[in-house]
Amino acid sequence: MNWDEFSHWGRHISDWAASYHQTLADRPVRARTKPGDIAAQLPAMPPDGSEPMDAIMADFERIVMPGMTHWQHPRFFAYFPANAAPPSMLADMLVTTLAAQCMLWQTSPAATELETVVIDWLRQAMALPETFTGVIQDSASSATLSAVLTMRERATGYTGNRDGLSRKGNLRIYCSDQAHSSIDRACWVAGIGQENLVKLPTTGPRYALDVAALRAAIAQDRADGHIPAGLIAITGGTGIGAADDLAPLFDIAQAEDLYTHLDAAWAGSAMICPEFRADFWQGAERADSIVFNPHKWLGAQFDCSVQFLKDPGPQLNTLRIEPEYLKTTGDAVTNYSEWTIPLGRRFRALKIWFLIRSYGLDGLRTRMRNHVAWAGEVCDAIRALDGFEIVTEPILSLFSFRCPGDDHTQQRLVDAINDDGRIYLTQAAFGGRKVIRLQVGQFDTTRNDVLMAAEVIDDVWRSIS
Ligand SMILES: *Cc1c(COP(=O)(O)O)cnc(C)c1O
Repeated sequence: MNWDEFSHWGRHISDWAASYHQTLADRPVRARTKPGDIAAQLPAMPPDGSEPMDAIMADFERIVMPGMTHWQHPRFFAYFPANAAPPSMLADMLVTTLAAQCMLWQTSPAATELETVVIDWLRQAMALPETFTGVIQDSASSATLSAVLTMRERATGYTGNRDGLSRKGNLRIYCSDQAHSSIDRACWVAGIGQENLVKLPTTGPRYALDVAALRAAIAQDRADGHIPAGLIAITGGTGIGAADDLAPLFDIAQAEDLYTHLDAAWAGSAMICPEFRADFWQGAERADSIVFNPHKWLGAQFDCSVQFLKDPGPQLNTLRIEPEYLKTTGDAVTNYSEWTIPLGRRFRALKIWFLIRSYGLDGLRTRMRNHVAWAGEVCDAIRALDGFEIVTEPILSLFSFRCPGDDHTQQRLVDAINDDGRIYLTQAAFGGRKVIRLQVGQFDTTRNDVLMAAEVIDDVWRSIS
């Protein structure tokens, strides 16, 4: 492809993108294909010869597009959002164009320095103290793994990387039973082991980790000769939005010398709104590490996960490695690849910069405030449906409910709603039962889109019951 052709197709694709978004609301949210449908339409062998771009693009529309679920659809209420606000998409096009590896300061000074600055912007926006710095990772899973590895190394006097773990005893990490599966995985991969991830019960209206249970578990572990190493707190769990009462947890962690990580992957974005901080952010400043995903609610195109660190020292002591070919000389600079597990790094700061400048924090705050308010309204509309029960009340913009009937019926309703296509919802488990969860957070959703969810649920329920 020459650059004239690139320019032609670049224009074509950006026009296509705009019209895709302008007509998105008319498409079914979830893909309607069956397993294997898409693969069956693709040639089994790669072409030996060159194919023209218009043929490739035509097949993209014909074969690929019907197999896509539309995450930017205004009636996407499943999982959590993966918002890609238009300015962040444009920034990512520039990042794709430059295609720089931003692993060291010298491999693109602007990428490193912009990263430092936008992390500090976000730190201020989320009311964290000046002592916090941070790094942009690909996903919350990676940030949490970095924090768990740091817990391990700190608890072993930074000898685990060198010696391996065979004689280090049982390192224990504590969290609530609402913890995301990325925490389990981090413990597997870090060599901590599932058995040493201690999941404790929750209490209260926001399903916070039970402080007395934490205290008792640590005391029992010490009595058994185990080594308490870390605590992972949650602000806005994935299932039903569970949020820990942070200050008392961090009091215990401090007294027990545990390294602490706060998983605010989803709810962290809403902390740019001061009014949500009283319920969700008191004590956050005492965490050693905090992760939140601008690629969820905030609007920065996937992937973009910010890890704030009170002191980068422990994580750098855990992850930094400097072979000869990566050594740089001269001034003291930040080399962000020393803060993370992957060496190579995309220029992710640019999309945060475009996003925040283009909307201003106020523009982003307004969206989140609307989402929270509309989630409350649609929750009340579902509560009013005959026989329906709200199982967990809205936590920010997430709540869960059940229709009349058993777990099987809940799944039947979810599947029927998603086959209908006007909205998209998913299920979760809570209190040993299946619940249907609904979150409001798509960047351009409107009050009408959100309220329509209750109508669709009612419609579909009547059609299957
Ligand atoms: C989405 C989510 C994660 C995982 O995020 P990734 O960036 O996909 O790894 C972890 N914790 C919570 C609470 C989440 O909502």
